[in-house]
Amino acid sequence: MRCCEPNHEHECGGVSRRNFLKICTAAAVYMGLEESFGIKIAEAVTNAKKRPPVIWLSGQGCTGCTETLLRPDHPTVEKLIIDLIALDYNETLNTGAGHQAEEYKKRSIEENAGKFILVVEGSIPTKDNGIYCQVAGQNFIDIVKETAARAAAVIAIGSCASWGGIPSSGPNPTGAKGLPEILKSTTVVTIPGCPPNPYNFLSTVLHYLTFNRLPELDDKGRPKFAYSRLIHENCERRPHFDAGRFAEEFGDEGHRKGYCLYKLGCKGPQTYANCPAILFNDVGGGSWPVGTGHPCFGCTEQGVGFSIPLHSPAHVIHPAPSALQAPIIPERPEPMSGTAAALAGGAVGAIVGASAMAIKRIGEQSGKTEQSPKEE
Ligand code: SF4
Repeated sequence: MRCCEPNHEHECGGVSRRNFLKICTAAAVYMGLEESFGIKIAEAVTNAKKRPPVIWLSGQGCTGCTETLLRPDHPTVEKLIIDLIALDYNETLNTGAGHQAEEYKKRSIEENAGKFILVVEGSIPTKDNGIYCQVAGQNFIDIVKETAARAAAVIAIGSCASWGGIPSSGPNPTGAKGLPEILKSTTVVTIPGCPPNPYNFLSTVLHYLTFNRLPELDDKGRPKFAYSRLIHENCERRPHFDAGRFAEEFGDEGHRKGYCLYKLGCKGPQTYANCPAILFNDVGGGSWPVGTGHPCFGCTEQGVGFSIPLHSPAHVIHPAPSALQAPIIPERPEPMSGTAAALAGGAVGAIVGASAMAIKRIGEQSGKTEQSPKEE
């Protein structure tokens, strides 16, 4: 990848120049930048004098976040990520072990103080001074604090590191917390998901390398380019939701026809993430949970994933039809008359009202009358 002369078509670090440029352009688009920024990102990566060192610490997790970067049907992104960064320490991937690995980590932190990126995977136990997760005889919470104090940037990857995830769900016997709660005075980029999408991690790192700063974050530390829109807004089943066509049971006619999964417990209406837009595994359309017929369970959203029962109906944040769907009232090139505008307004109001009533009915059918729609 270091060698990306304009006319080279050969493989660079395992990724062809063509694919490399495609990925950089895609990353630019994911981040809401113009396509032309793809070239700028590619130049920043290829001109970098040194790959940014990364110390990757693992706490209470299943290593699924590491696996999502490395899965064998995702070779291009995996190669790019591994070639983009200098992964100096990752317990799942280290070739060395024990004292040797710990010595290497210590040396990398000392040599790269103030320059390395700290990535934390898994939640951090806090009960009884954090005794429930130790690495090399040291409590994980202390390792995290010490390492973060010397890092240039800190990323919490996955839902467990972002806000506690599965280990923090009731009864939470270890007092598991996410990284932002441990490092209260540090900016922590959170990339939640179970697993998180590797493109969101890749785009965050590319942004940092290109612009020398982190991407814009929301109030939960999530990059806005990836987590500013509800799944429900971009879902391919949304027209069925708006039309009141729902799967009632797994395998019924509505399910087989691809109807909306709201009644099966889909949490898309209250979960912010870009899953339906960027998909998973690079295998084509529909490769995300809802696309394959399973309701979204809200894994990127604190208080939703691992908190609300899987098949309970979601709270619908925006009951009105998405502005991105085909317009229900045809757009008119000329200004409407006052009467026409009043009629159109009434029609939209009726649609919103009908949508709200439909949701209310669903909630009542499910014995959840408190799930009435609420505008944010
Ligand atoms: Fe898609 Fe779920 Fe929203 Fe239905 S409820 S449109 S399946 S996100």
